[in-house]
Amino acid sequence: MHIADILSRDSVTTSFEFFPPRNDAGWDSLFHVIADFEKLQPSFVSVTYGAAGSTRARTHELVVRLKTQTRLDPIPHLTCANHTHADIENILTQYAQCGVSNILALRGDAPLTGSTASEFQHAVDLVKCIHRFNQGGGHPDRRGFGIGVAGFPEGHPDTPNTLIQMDHLRAKVDAGADYICSQLFFNNAAFFDWRERCELAGIRVPVMAGIMPITNIAGLKRMADLAGGTTFPAKLLRAVQRCGDDAAAVERVGIHWATEQCMALLDGGVRGIHLYTLNKCAATQAIFQNLGIKTSAQLR
Ligand SMILES: Cc1cc2nc3c(=O)[nH]c(=O)nc-3n(C[C@H](O)[C@H](O)[C@H](O)COP(=O)(O)OP(=O)(O)OC[C@H]3O[C@@H](n4cnc5c(N)ncnc54)[C@H](O)[C@@H]3O)c2cc1C
Repeated sequence: MHIADILSRDSVTTSFEFFPPRNDAGWDSLFHVIADFEKLQPSFVSVTYGAAGSTRARTHELVVRLKTQTRLDPIPHLTCANHTHADIENILTQYAQCGVSNILALRGDAPLTGSTASEFQHAVDLVKCIHRFNQGGGHPDRRGFGIGVAGFPEGHPDTPNTLIQMDHLRAKVDAGADYICSQLFFNNAAFFDWRERCELAGIRVPVMAGIMPITNIAGLKRMADLAGGTTFPAKLLRAVQRCGDDAAAVERVGIHWATEQCMALLDGGVRGIHLYTLNKCAATQAIFQNLGIKTSAQLR
């Protein structure tokens, strides 16, 4: 469903992010978990796009399998690195033929190895390319693909000047983005302030909040690395430290924190909550339970 239709159906969207399996053996266990996510009836799900070739093909495969084998509505991520305009047109054509309605357009994390050569420097270039594809009538929906972009409540490391960074975000919206999905954050005040600054910059598209429940210490450290600039409030770190080496306690603390974040975001009129699931359903199920809901439909 085009994101505009999802947004007009759901006053608050809920969405889950998945990554494709790293190898062929991972498909069965992933689809086992996906069956549990499906019961929560999210507004949509999204599928990450890696820097490496093989996982890129698996993004496409996962999106197509979600579309054909489940009732979930998948939004593929697409990134700039190592792509030509012809590659992107080809990928868009394939997604359009499969009935995929939306794309999340990103610059992408730098690949661990290999070249980052690309005809696209920034996500805005990809947004422009998708917009041109839409205008060319390449999609069966006359509106073309709905387009999402990333936003960074606590700043993006490459652009320390936050006013200039807001200009770059605004440029993506002006180029045709329909919604913004935020980087994960643990400090709601930072998100609310950034949302207000987006409004002041004239950004009128819906902004969804990215939440990642901490489920273990290793994951917390990995996220600090991947989501550079994200702050970890002292209150959260103290609660995690109190758990010592009790892994189950760390997970309970992480779920509790994420639940409190979601409650306050809902009270604060958030337009959508996007859960970075890391392909594990237990934390998401627990958050739903804590919110007193069985499915996302109860938030709509
Ligand atoms: C919701 C979400 C999903 C993600 N999914 C993936 C994924 O699937 N795969 C993956 O590899 N990564 C993913 N990422 C990570 C993301 O690609 C990186 O954080 C990346 O560094 C920034 O992406 P962007 O799309 O915001 O890039 P951009 O909008 O291009 O911004 C990147 C930096 O360049 C600056 N900039 C933008 N335009 C200009 C300009 N014209 N001139 C100079 N500077 C400019 C910005 O201010 C910013 O500092 C995701 C991030 C989020 C928040």
